[in-house]
Amino acid sequence: MDWIVETRELTKVYGDGAEVRALDGVNLTVQEGEFLAVMGPSGSGKSTLLNLLGALDRPTSGEVHVAGERLAEVRNLDRFRSRTVGFVFQLHNLIPTLTSRENVEVPLRAGHLSRRARRERAEALLTLVGLAERADHLPAQLSGGERQRVAIARALANEPRLLLADEPTGNLDSTSGAEVMAMLRKLNQEQGTTVLVVTHDPAVARSTDRIVALHDGRIVRDEPLENPYLEDLREFRSSALGQALLEGRVPQEIQELGLQSLLPGIQSVLARV
Ligand code: ADP
Repeated sequence: MDWIVETRELTKVYGDGAEVRALDGVNLTVQEGEFLAVMGPSGSGKSTLLNLLGALDRPTSGEVHVAGERLAEVRNLDRFRSRTVGFVFQLHNLIPTLTSRENVEVPLRAGHLSRRARRERAEALLTLVGLAERADHLPAQLSGGERQRVAIARALANEPRLLLADEPTGNLDSTSGAEVMAMLRKLNQEQGTTVLVVTHDPAVARSTDRIVALHDGRIVRDEPLENPYLEDLREFRSSALGQALLEGRVPQEIQELGLQSLLPGIQSVLARV
């Protein structure tokens, strides 16, 4: 299997006196190309997990492997972070005095590209996130959703294999949040980037392919998301009308709709979901 992330008994304890076990023996594997959400209430350990996966912090015990490297053995963590992982945070952290393009160019300055190549790369990334026309705007001239998309473009500057997003929709209204999630989905599909989104919002989590639920530093659920239409059908089956149809009854009140003739088909569908 082609794992991009593998943790073994990952544990993080904060503090010396009153200890907080922020993560407690987490075993998580993520395959290259996955799009998944880590969910859980506030304080369940989501940010701690993200920080350990991105080598922003060190575990108390246990192991983290990312893109074939055991993080405890990586000598140059700055280099690892800038080459392998991209970060998107709830607060976009764009530099207010720089334009969108200049913000995206910041991580490229560490590389070997010429000024012109940097500029072109930044423009290509802004095009990718649908903001080519906003290249010369300052963050204050952009909407919240647009700023977050610039932050995503910046996180992609060095073509990371793994994109870690901590509550990327946290500060946004639901429309802008959905736009940002659609953008992440597109990157995942078109560039093959593995995307891990931390969220406490079930709607955001449901727009990914897999939900890992944390509680008190432990994984309490880890499952692929089912086809949403199947879930709708199950919901219908458990409704009063769904139950009646499943039992072969068309309620009096809706008999003129002609459901009677469709009943065998509906029954057989409801029996299968
Ligand atoms: P989440 O992101 O799910 O809200 P966190 O990973 O931020 O959860 O926190 C998990 C637990 O660890 C919480 O109880 C939190 O208070 C504690 N914690 C997080 N960071 C620190 C820190 N730097 N020092 C002490 N305790 C911390």
